[in-house]
Amino acid sequence: MLKKILIFLIVVVVGIVAYKGITGKSATDFAETELEERFEVADKAHKGDTIVCPVCGEKFVKDTSPFDSEKCEDRYVKFKEGLKSVETFEDDALKVYEDTKKSVKKNFGNR
Ligand SMILES: [Zn+2]
Repeated sequence: MLKKILIFLIVVVVGIVAYKGITGKSATDFAETELEERFEVADKAHKGDTIVCPVCGEKFVKDTSPFDSEKCEDRYVKFKEGLKSVETFEDDALKVYEDTKKSVKKNFGNR
């Protein structure tokens, strides 16, 4: 069981590092795009416009908030916070990868 978890973790870290290393993009960029686009549309709309809540997709008449309820606003904020912690994890994983590469080069590079 523990071995399976460890293998899963290694696969996740390697995957994240490879994705970021190859594309130069964070894995969260992709997840963020659609929600961000919907948020921007709702945010730019004027008071009295009928808009779609970026989180739940419900139609409503905009007053001041781009969200139809506080619950949706909370979910949006939590989602953004979650993305930030994933980005930190990605950066840490990338650093471990670079450090390992450097130490391997240092120890075995000139043979
Ligand atoms: Zn909503």
